[in-house]
Order: sequence, then structure tokens, then C-alpha cells
Amino acid sequence: MKKNMIWYFMVIIMLMIKDLFTNLAIVVSLLFLYSHIFSASPLKKDSTFMRKVLLGVVGGLFSNILMQYSIRIDTTIVDLRHIPIILLAFFGGTLPAVIGMVLVIIGRLVIGVNASAYASVILMVLITIFSTFISKQRMSKKNKAILMLTFSNIIFTFVIIYLLSDVSLLVKLVPLYWIISYLAGFLSFYILDFIRKSQFLLEKYKSESTTDGLTGLNNVRKFDEVFNSLIKELNKSIQSLSLLYIDIDFFKKINDTYGHSEGDLVLKRLGTLLTEATRSFDVVSRNGGEEFTVLLPDTSVVRAKDIAEHIRKTVESTEFSLSGGGVIKVTVSVGVASYIDTTENPGMLIEDADKALYAAKKTGRNKVCCHNAIN
Ligand code: GH3
Ligand code: MG
Ligand code: MG
Repeated sequence: MKKNMIWYFMVIIMLMIKDLFTNLAIVVSLLFLYSHIFSASPLKKDSTFMRKVLLGVVGGLFSNILMQYSIRIDTTIVDLRHIPIILLAFFGGTLPAVIGMVLVIIGRLVIGVNASAYASVILMVLITIFSTFISKQRMSKKNKAILMLTFSNIIFTFVIIYLLSDVSLLVKLVPLYWIISYLAGFLSFYILDFIRKSQFLLEKYKSESTTDGLTGLNNVRKFDEVFNSLIKELNKSIQSLSLLYIDIDFFKKINDTYGHSEGDLVLKRLGTLLTEATRSFDVVSRNGGEEFTVLLPDTSVVRAKDIAEHIRKTVESTEFSLSGGGVIKVTVSVGVASYIDTTENPGMLIEDADKALYAAKKTGRNKVCCHNAIN
């Protein structure tokens, strides 16, 4: 008889381990899915109201999914439904956690209304209150996670002691639950942290691969991309394309006189001036060093020269502030090329604008020159 009892408990423990690991696998896959779907704007304490509501609902649904994989023990069920609620409180604060809690309570009551369900409601309410309280405290993320998970395990233990009459089953279930709950909890925190960091870095590298770090303008790679796509649009959605090639005059002297970091300030300020002096659909880039370009879609050479002259004058009349408090004056030379007025082959626009810039430099600087001398 005793042998039979041992076998009975062995089988129950094996089933519990199997089911709790199933829960663990479901938590992990749901987190991956969730992180990919909502990668654009992950849940934060300062997320918008609607975002918090949406992600609270999603978290509540996740808890309900986990509940569907509950393990029946005696008259009660155990699972990892508390993990999404803890995560909601940890990342988003009270609102999403409460929404998640309400959904999980509704889900539990739908399964059946009995003492176990009432105990589960109390369990979820206490976990939510404690987790949102901890999420507001000033302490390390790690300590918050440990406290939230430990508290929910303690509450679970009390509840399960109240619900289960079989002491020998309790002795086996409780330690196992603590292990699996900690494992799933820490793994969830780790996975979310890892995915969030990876996504943040991916976005950062994506933006750095197309943006100039100093000025925030397009870099030369992005310029090439936009230039090629505009060429493809010629004679379709746009009829003409002009290009301004802009180079600061005697920039080396500015660096030599005031230092490289002051030179950087000038470059930054010029980037802002160029954006302000052009239209919203013009494409301003820093092509390297102290050389900038402006792509002007659907713009004739006459209009392009006007814009170039406007830029030249704006720069000439601007006082560039130095970090120490003084100001310096800077000028630019601009080369203009325009399809179809100066350049028949749009692929030659960069070369022709560069040639025009060279002419501006040779003939005195602080001036605008146009390819093929349409001046
Ligand atoms: P020009 O009127 O003929 O264009 O003369 P310039 O001195 O402007 O041209 P040059 O090509 O001789 O010098 C360009 C200088 O730009 C040299 C280089 O040190 C500086 N430069 C390039 N990139 C940066 C940068 O990112 N920051 C700073 N501060 N200087 C840079
Ligand atoms: Mg220069
Ligand atoms: Mg240059």
C-alpha cells in the first residue's frame, strides 16, 4: 500500500513538472511574440493612457492563456498567470497591472465559481497591489523583481495551504512551485530586458547608419539612397531635380584658430540653418567633412539658384556662437546643377554640382555658381 502511495506521488510530481515546464515555455514564447509585435513603443511608466490600456489588455489575455494550461491538483489549479501581471506592474505601473488583473479575475471566475476561485481573486489582487507598490519604490530593477516574485510565492503558499488539505501533496507542490515561479519570473524579466535592449540597439544602429551623428542630417549613405530613388521618379512623379553642393569657405582656418570642437559647433549650426532655409520636402545631407548637399525635387535651375543664394546670404549674415561666448562669421560657396536645365543625364548631377562648386571656390568663394555657367 505504501509503495503504491509513493508511485502515486511520483506520477503527480512528474505531471506537475511537465505541466509547469509547459507553462514556462508558453511564457517565453508569448514574451517573444509580444516584444516583436509591440517593439515600436514598449510599455513604460510614461507610455500614453491608451498604450497602457492596450498592453494591460494584452497582458491580461496572456495570463488567461497561461490559465488554460493550469495543472489541476486536488480541488484547485496552479499556473504562472501571475507573471504577466507582475511584468505589467514592473514596466507600466498601476493602470496596465490593474487591467490585467481584472481580466485574469474574470477569466478565473468563468472557469468556475468556488472557494478556489475566490482564493485566486484574493491572490491576484494582493499580487497586483504589492507589485504596483514595489514598482513605485526607488530600488534596483533586480531587487524589485526579486521582491515581486517572492511576495507572490509567499501569498500563493498561504492560499494553497488554505485550499489543499493533503499535507504530503503540499510538501511536494510548494517547493516545486517556488522553483518554477522564480525560474519563469526571472527568465521573463531577463528575456524582456534582453529583447528591449536588442531592439533599442537595432533602432540606434539603423538610425546611425543613415544619420550624421553630429548634425542629425542624412549622411552620405542616405543621400545616395534618396538621390537614386529621386532619379527613378524623374519624368514620373517629379519632372525636374536640382542639387546644391555646399562647402564652408576656409573651414580649416576656423579649426586651426578656434579648435576642432568649435568647428563642430559651426557644422551643427550650419546643419540647422540649412534645414530652416529650405523647404520641408527638400533633402538636406552632410556628405562629409564641411560639405553639405540639398536635393531639390521638382525644382528648376532658376528656383534652385534662388534657394542657393538665400542659403548663402543667410549663412553670411549669421553670427555663429562659440562655446566660450564669442561669435564668428562664416561663409559658404554653393555649386548648382539641375536636371534638365544644366544637366541632361541626371546621373551626372553630383559631378556637375561639384564642378560648379569648384568654380565658385576658384572665382572668389562666398558665391553661388551654376553648372554650364547659367549665371
Ligand atoms: P575651402 O574654402 O577651399 O573649402 O577651404 P577649407 O579650409 O574649407 O577646405 P579644406 O578641404 O582645406 O579643409 C576642410 C577642413 O574641414 C579640414 C578638416 O580638418 C575639417 N573637417 C572635416 N571634418 C570635420 C569635422 O567633422 N569637424 C571639424 N571640426 N572639422 C572637420
Ligand atoms: Mg571648405
Ligand atoms: Mg571641402
